[in-house]
Amino acid sequence: MKKELIRAHNFNAGPSALPLAVLEKAQEELLDLQGTGMSVMEMSHRSKEYDALHNKAISLIKELLNIPEDYEVLFIQGGASLQFSMVPMNFLAEGKKAGYFMTGSWSSKALAEAKVFGDTYEIASSKASNYKYIPALEDLEYQKDTAYVHLTSNNTIFGTQWQDFPDTGDIPLIADMSSDIMSKPFDVSKFSLIYAGAQKNLGPSGVTLVIIKKSLLEQEKANLPTMLRYSTFAENNSLYNTPPTFGIYMIGLVLEWVKDQGGLEKIYQKNQEKAALIYDVIDNSNGFYVGHAEKNSRSLMNITFRVKDEELEKKFLAEGKARGFIGINGHRSVGGCRVSAYNAVPYESCLALKEFMVEFQKNNS
Ligand SMILES: *Cc1c(COP(=O)(O)O)cnc(C)c1O
Repeated sequence: MKKELIRAHNFNAGPSALPLAVLEKAQEELLDLQGTGMSVMEMSHRSKEYDALHNKAISLIKELLNIPEDYEVLFIQGGASLQFSMVPMNFLAEGKKAGYFMTGSWSSKALAEAKVFGDTYEIASSKASNYKYIPALEDLEYQKDTAYVHLTSNNTIFGTQWQDFPDTGDIPLIADMSSDIMSKPFDVSKFSLIYAGAQKNLGPSGVTLVIIKKSLLEQEKANLPTMLRYSTFAENNSLYNTPPTFGIYMIGLVLEWVKDQGGLEKIYQKNQEKAALIYDVIDNSNGFYVGHAEKNSRSLMNITFRVKDEELEKKFLAEGKARGFIGINGHRSVGGCRVSAYNAVPYESCLALKEFMVEFQKNNS
């Protein structure tokens, strides 16, 4: 007898939930992908079957994000963390400076890597408030000779998200979108480079999506190692060496699912509804639950909060775990609670968590 499938209420911050339909499709194709008698992991990355999957993933990214013609879509390894280094290595030229927005731990790590390669400065920082908010778009100043400006679109650990992006004029804008790419529509043409580790909204870990404007690519520095140059990936359709084939295949399946859901407008609407369930509990709790992010900076992907006293918080996390809510403890660096409600987290999981939160408050007030 087949065991009944019980899927977890998975609020993990990353790697995180994948759509059940995608996992089922991958399972179905694992032993025999489209009549080849092989899984995608067993076939040549030079085969026509793999080539079709690879190009399908790229064309779905272009279609869903409405990417203009003058951009390249690349798959690189090393995670978003390697992009922290690759960006300045390729584009922080001698005599220029890189401007960074400091909105959380990932921004700090990105800035630290840029310092290895050249001069940097902070454009604005919310560090003094423990990264509770995103800087206002007014009155931002960029220094002369700024090579590029870098921001983190969604701060996975602190639960803040840019609601709109700054206009940097002629200065290339670069964004780490690891934790909110594909969660809502946005204007790609504002950016010269976007990168995102796949393991939050796109697929399994091991692949990093890079979207780069061709005009930025032309400014790449000379004499860099082959595998650390964006042009190597652009000139070879990300097939210079063996790419992470399984991960790219999974991204293709996830994006087909996004399209089936109705595309980014629909996904955005659902994400708003899901996040509202949890934020409403926090806002209506009379201080029992305390949100970390300021309201106008709240993330739809990572909802961070504390329970009013520490003992109750421990109890909340323990009871939540016992009830099957996975991944609701905050990041080890900040503590508290964090609920990650990425694209693939079902509405029903958020509703179940909301009900648990309301009940927990009632039983402990
Ligand atoms: C998860 C995450 C990273 C780290 O990604 P890796 O792929 O593990 O290097 C970087 N930036 C943001 C915003 C993240 O959410």
